[in-house]
Amino acid sequence: MKTTFYHELTSTSLQDAVLSDACCEEILTGSDVELLPLLDAAYQVRKTYFRNEVQLHILNNAQNGYCPEDCGYCAQASSATTNIEAYPLKPDAEILEEAKRAYESGAYRYCIVMSGRGPSPKRVSHLAALIQTVKAHYPIEVCLSAGLIDVESAHTLKAAGLDRLNHNLNTSEAHYPNICSTHTYQDRMETLQAAQTVGLACCSGVIVGMGEETDDLIKVAKALRKLEVASLPVNFFLPISGTELSEFVTAQRSVPTTLTPDYCLRVLCLYRFLNPRAEIRVAAGREHHLRSMEVMALYPANSMFIDGYLNAEGSVASRTLEMIKDAGFAVKANAEDLEQLNQEEAEKRDVLLKELKVLRPRMASNT
Ligand code: SF4
Repeated sequence: MKTTFYHELTSTSLQDAVLSDACCEEILTGSDVELLPLLDAAYQVRKTYFRNEVQLHILNNAQNGYCPEDCGYCAQASSATTNIEAYPLKPDAEILEEAKRAYESGAYRYCIVMSGRGPSPKRVSHLAALIQTVKAHYPIEVCLSAGLIDVESAHTLKAAGLDRLNHNLNTSEAHYPNICSTHTYQDRMETLQAAQTVGLACCSGVIVGMGEETDDLIKVAKALRKLEVASLPVNFFLPISGTELSEFVTAQRSVPTTLTPDYCLRVLCLYRFLNPRAEIRVAAGREHHLRSMEVMALYPANSMFIDGYLNAEGSVASRTLEMIKDAGFAVKANAEDLEQLNQEEAEKRDVLLKELKVLRPRMASNT
């Protein structure tokens, strides 16, 4: 592909113009579109708005399981047979303690996530009080993910100091019935619109690899662009055994059923070009699907989770911090705490010597 192609991607994005569907398709599947110049073109956009900074998020799975919904990707769904440890909403003291830990780990944002279709008015008041307490104790941004929310609830949460509301679109309107039957794409869209009505910043993203076509991913990216979401998590489907979709995706063969690092990076680049000002987070599945190419995600994305995901473990925080630093990026966090964490890590990094049983296994097995 000619270098002008990559330059045009950058300049179109920086001019806030929309790429055509054909161009988006080219980015995702064009065999003559090379990955490195594509990443560089996306990086030019990312650098313009976010320099070399990386925002770190920590998730608190505040309520696990007990969900009546049947989202096929989710280990907490009523339809999943996954063996998860379900628990009702954690006590306030526990959530507060975890907010403290997130703050001290250098996280810029603390995300409180609850399973369920949506909170009752009583639960909304409880969450509002909790958010007020967290904000009073720690200078950390708070994001809440609590399911479907109406304008009144959104207003109460905003008044309590909530910084962002998370509610992912997940996939396109056309593909939505394939991943969930208990609520619709439109329900999700209305929650985001309620948040916007009261002036709450929205965090909304996608899950890639749920049997969708490339066209579905393009549609979601463009819908999120229209919503002007502040934050955009790009998740790569983790086929947790026992979830409905892990079976479905394995059975599909017409789309990228096994996400490759190359394809995942192309998706991140596409989302950056279409959402130049959004905080794009390389979210769940980054370790699993990007593998040795994980660090390359930082060129289109400017945000990531540390300390794992809702029901799946991720890299340990220290490894993520090291990866960011090694690649020349800087964590956007409270500097003092970060320095202390880096110091602790440096102290742990002694070179270990191989033991005799590793050097001479045969000898060891004879003794
Ligand atoms: S994604 Fe949320 S609403 Fe859907 S099943 Fe999981 S916890 Fe329930």
